Amino acid sequence: MATQTIPITVAEGDGIGPEIMEATLRILKASGAPLEIQKVEIGEKVYLRGQPTGIDPATWDLIRQSKAFLKAPITTPQGGGFKSLNVTVRTTLGLYANVRPCVAYSPFVETKHPGMNVVIVRENEEDLYTGIEYQQTPDVYEALKLITRPGCEKIIRYAFEYAQTYQRKKVTCFTKDNILKLTDGLFHKVFEEIGAEYPNIEKEHWIVDIGAAKLADTPAAFDVVVMPNLYGDILSDVAAQIAGSVGLAGSANIGTSGAMFEAIHGSAPRRAGQNLANPSGLLLAAVQMLVHVGLSEHATLIHNAWLKTLEEGIHTYDIFKEKTSKQKVGTKEFADAVIERLGQKPDTLPAAHYTTARHIHHAPHSSTAKPQQELKGIDIFIRWDRDVELLAKQLQEASTPALKLKMVSNRGVKVWPNKMPETACVDNWRCRFVPTKDGIASPQEIVDLLSSLVQKELVVTQTAYLFAFDGQPGYTLAQDEQ
Ligand code: NAD
Repeated sequence: MATQTIPITVAEGDGIGPEIMEATLRILKASGAPLEIQKVEIGEKVYLRGQPTGIDPATWDLIRQSKAFLKAPITTPQGGGFKSLNVTVRTTLGLYANVRPCVAYSPFVETKHPGMNVVIVRENEEDLYTGIEYQQTPDVYEALKLITRPGCEKIIRYAFEYAQTYQRKKVTCFTKDNILKLTDGLFHKVFEEIGAEYPNIEKEHWIVDIGAAKLADTPAAFDVVVMPNLYGDILSDVAAQIAGSVGLAGSANIGTSGAMFEAIHGSAPRRAGQNLANPSGLLLAAVQMLVHVGLSEHATLIHNAWLKTLEEGIHTYDIFKEKTSKQKVGTKEFADAVIERLGQKPDTLPAAHYTTARHIHHAPHSSTAKPQQELKGIDIFIRWDRDVELLAKQLQEASTPALKLKMVSNRGVKVWPNKMPETACVDNWRCRFVPTKDGIASPQEIVDLLSSLVQKELVVTQTAYLFAFDGQPGYTLAQDEQ
């Protein structure tokens, strides 16, 4: 076993956090893992003493200087102004891959899906989690779903590299690209491009709604599943819960130069301070951390002792069932039981065997394409409380010789020309202007148009340039737009 100590940072978190962290650290210590632990304070206490990010600036350096960060769940205070610290840590430290193994431990932990063994690889840095939101009018609020090519390439390559490293057979991609043609469309496209480089791994794509139904019903149909951030967040909880309990799943957040390990569940404040919570999610996250920092033998030791504890029916309340369990224990007693079994292996469940630290290759952004970008017009959003015909008339009067009104849409539905009487409209209208002549607009023509609209006292709430890339529109048409 390694003798040099490995520096890690640890945050005890909120709610059940301190209890499950205490249990986990005791097990780590008993395993002999040579860790040098530096505790840091983040979360509710830091938020409540006036730090809206939930983390003090000095704490970043401590985390960045350590080899890994083991984090218990934290409570995000309700109400405006408090940013999710989990998202902040993941994005600030570039921890782009969230890896969540969801495994059934049947017959020892009750599950409808014995044999389930799915790894969700969730994109961690973009999608709706950039938290870029706007109120544009009294009635209209917007959240930006941001998907980038480098972001897709990194996470999808990670999923294939993970599958290859851990001898997984298939990688499935979930998107909603039948609706979100550009954003989810890109994720799917990059999946096809990168997947082609892994001929030995089976590949498939599901639309997320039916894919989610299939995952909840027949998880054995899946192996590694890669998803944009939001779908991955939701479906990894579903997958963990149907495998047995959200209390059983750990997760790794991996970046090119740092890593954070945590349970997938939250701080369960209602269960706090009662010695009730299951420390397994955090413990399995710690096992992932040991593998990551090269302490595979200690990871194997702990994982097997934990499996043996489950097999012997020593269970916390969340997985305790009269039929399958023998002894209901609290957090502390569960940790004691795992420590007593260090050195033992499970009899029925497959034993863990981590050999060397398996380093997954992080590939840099591979696309070097530089398509020709042309300005094809502009969508100008305008607050308007009256009839669309009147709005269109005002807009036409305000148009400049270079740009003309092509259509007006409301919540994505074309309402001018030819509004259907049934179409329900709100107070923010997307007004699409395109060049009158050769199909290319200039930035100055757009400024002139905006200036003309402002002079007419029209309230512009947002603008979006319409670009084409190598002749392909980089924007969608409104429903019913030609
Ligand atoms: P939660 O996961 O904390 O709890 C939901 C329920 O799951 C609990 O009431 C409990 O019955 C059960 N549960 C969860 N973990 C358990 C465990 N280890 N052992 C036994 N039972 C367990 O979800 P929530 O109630 O929606 O969120 C509570 C707080 O946690 C919120 O402030 C939320 O923002 C935060 N949260 C933090 C993280 C994180 O730090 N990574 C993740 C999710 C939620």
